[in-house]
Amino acid sequence: MIPFNKPYLSGNETEYIKLAVESGKISGDGVYTKKCHEFFENRFGFKKVLLTTSCTDALEMAAILINIVPGDEVIIPSYTFVSTVNAFVLRGAKVVFADSEATNPNIDADKIESLITPKTRAIVPVHYAGVACDMDKIMEIAERHNLFVVEDAAQAIDSYYKGRPLGSIGHLAAFSFHETKNIISGEGGMLVINDDQFMERAEVIREKGTNRSAFFRGEVDKYGWVDIGSSFLPSDIIAAYLFAQLESLERIQQRRKDIWNRYDEKFKQAGLENYISTPFTPEYATNNGHMYYLVTKGLTERSNLIADCKLKNIHPVFHYLSLHKSPYYSEIYKGIELPNSDFYTDALVRLPLYYSLTDSEQDLIIETIINSLSFGID
Ligand SMILES: *Cc1c(COP(=O)(O)O)cnc(C)c1O
Repeated sequence: MIPFNKPYLSGNETEYIKLAVESGKISGDGVYTKKCHEFFENRFGFKKVLLTTSCTDALEMAAILINIVPGDEVIIPSYTFVSTVNAFVLRGAKVVFADSEATNPNIDADKIESLITPKTRAIVPVHYAGVACDMDKIMEIAERHNLFVVEDAAQAIDSYYKGRPLGSIGHLAAFSFHETKNIISGEGGMLVINDDQFMERAEVIREKGTNRSAFFRGEVDKYGWVDIGSSFLPSDIIAAYLFAQLESLERIQQRRKDIWNRYDEKFKQAGLENYISTPFTPEYATNNGHMYYLVTKGLTERSNLIADCKLKNIHPVFHYLSLHKSPYYSEIYKGIELPNSDFYTDALVRLPLYYSLTDSEQDLIIETIINSLSFGID
């Protein structure tokens, strides 16, 4: 059986967890949390990062930091995970859904401006499959209209826009280390703070609205309740797991990209343009080996393809369902039609991609898909 995903173990996770436990300090901001913070700041040049218990938490922190209040509008692609949107809905925002590009599921930057009103406060681009959105365009629009940009970089570790690491471009950015991502800690996430005005307050919000972090650095002589906040920081046990993964970043990324490239070569060579399209990576973007997907002609074709794969015990999966048509939002949605988002909802399928996927397993997947598309499987 070939599942969609298998979590990868670098080998040092349990050793570091043991050391974290033995250190006697397993709450947040221990030794391993600091090591992870340093890793990200050194490796990607992020100004300041804070581990969180999930990307969802990091997005919720971002919504608090930019002071979203009821009635504010936030522009978000409809083709995304619920957390991208929930974080802002929780603060009372009205979500203005944007369509994806025709060429890939990222937000269509050319259509953002028509969605801006006097109430718009922020744009939240999602780097789908780790492929960069057109950030120069988005930042330029944001600057002109005085809006914040929060990058949902959940899938975008070690990926770049014109050479700049994703997560370093917007005012704030959120990463995920959920076990389906490239670098994992089970559940886990990180907020990146690129705009100085948020540095201090981010620490406070993450520590239940207290200035505890500043107190432990000796910057204030007592700590107390100074703002709203919640408990957004992970145990150092989680950080210990994460640090072991980060030490293997190079190796994990290389293997994932090799698998991705092999899929891409074989499907491009197969002459199946009438049945599927392969992922489009704009010139300004990189591929970080997060996800390999195919876009079929529609719902029926995709269902047939998935069913054929299941006959061979291979488990590709579809992805998001347009959020503007979700049970929670469709009743209140009054915006425009979003045809590209709806198309990816029906037609996009993700193939198994994980570190331990062998070449022969991958061959079987490729062969099964090519056969299914060319002949159908009995
Ligand atoms: C995985 C993911 C999230 C949520 O991450 P968690 O760490 O599970 O909260 C949010 N947005 C996108 C685009 C994701 O892929």
